[in-house]
Amino acid sequence: MTDWNEFNFNTRAVRAGQVRSDEGEHSEAIFPTSSYVFKNAEEAAKRFTSSELVGNIYSRFTNPTVRNFEERLAALEGGESCLATASGMAAILTSCLGLLKAGDHIVASKSIFGSTITLFNKILTKFEISTSFIELSDITSWQAAIKPNTKLLFLETPSNPLMAIADIQKVANIAHANDCLLIVDNCFCTPVLQQPLALGADLVIHSATKYLDGQGRCIGGAVVGPSNLINGDILGILRSAGPSMSPFNAWVFLKGLETLELRMQRHCYNAEILANWLNEQDSVQKVYYPGLTSHPQHEIAIKQQKRFGGLVSFEVANQKTAWNVIDSTRMISITGNLGDAKTTITHPATTTHGRITPDQRQAAGINDGLIRISVGLEDINDIQADLARGLLE
Ligand SMILES: *Cc1c(COP(=O)(O)O)cnc(C)c1O
Repeated sequence: MTDWNEFNFNTRAVRAGQVRSDEGEHSEAIFPTSSYVFKNAEEAAKRFTSSELVGNIYSRFTNPTVRNFEERLAALEGGESCLATASGMAAILTSCLGLLKAGDHIVASKSIFGSTITLFNKILTKFEISTSFIELSDITSWQAAIKPNTKLLFLETPSNPLMAIADIQKVANIAHANDCLLIVDNCFCTPVLQQPLALGADLVIHSATKYLDGQGRCIGGAVVGPSNLINGDILGILRSAGPSMSPFNAWVFLKGLETLELRMQRHCYNAEILANWLNEQDSVQKVYYPGLTSHPQHEIAIKQQKRFGGLVSFEVANQKTAWNVIDSTRMISITGNLGDAKTTITHPATTTHGRITPDQRQAAGINDGLIRISVGLEDINDIQADLARGLLE
């Protein structure tokens, strides 16, 4: 098999993991099959029961298209192994069920994806796994939250929607000094901008739904890391509990990876221009973007990211003004999704963070005038003009 480490990033993105069939197809094939046939009864018996004959049995376990996506993403994140899952949440659930048991404790940053908070707070607690939530960028609070039964540290950086940044290397050191694993959800940066495994993280989580697809078509996820973690208990949960990725979705994602670097460069280029432009507008009170020198963790962003990402948040006077900016757009999509070629606009206080109490929102720093933009691939002049309608009137 090819050692993809000998190739540069963009070559891996285009070619890693492809195994051509006897048809000689140039583009990757899709294998929409639930099971696989055996030459005879003996081969069937060996596939099922002996480790000497490995091969496909059933697509809940393995599928050639899914494996193609897994190998390509592993090659991009610099991980030994990857498991694709039905969604980003399935990747987080499968990893937690694989690595943790009743009585264990997680330390997670407060500003993680809403469903991840629900998973930790309402679902894992049923299995006596508890979580402490701390401030992402405050390195001392990570150490302070660790208990004798802590097994896992979990973070997203940059955070959503305020773009706070954690120093991955420092949190990884704290994790390892305390015999814990660090999981980084790398959804916002993708391996193009940030490679958490190289910074010391043990596992990387992806919601492939976002930038890996990049065109808002499919739901999927993945976990990447060393074989001993991935192919042990995490694989066991995937095979038996069944949150597997469909071959069709895997094909969409693996084709998405071919253009990931090009797309991320343009997302970043557009977002950098937009953040600077917003920063100059009188009606904008604050801009949250790691690329601005005013961002409190700008230096860490420079150290661990190649560029600053495609998400920009900003504050206007109040909810009325924010809704007016949103409703004055004619091109930008009003939707909660992100990482799409199409620019999207969200009012976090009344949507993604609409179900928590005003006090909790205040504590999370989400005020009523906050707007989040996932900057797409349209012409930046058109994106700016569409926001200007409500901002400059
Ligand atoms: C969307 C998202 C998830 C969940 O992914 P799904 O594919 O929707 O299950 C997890 N983490 C982050 C940062 C996300 O943006």
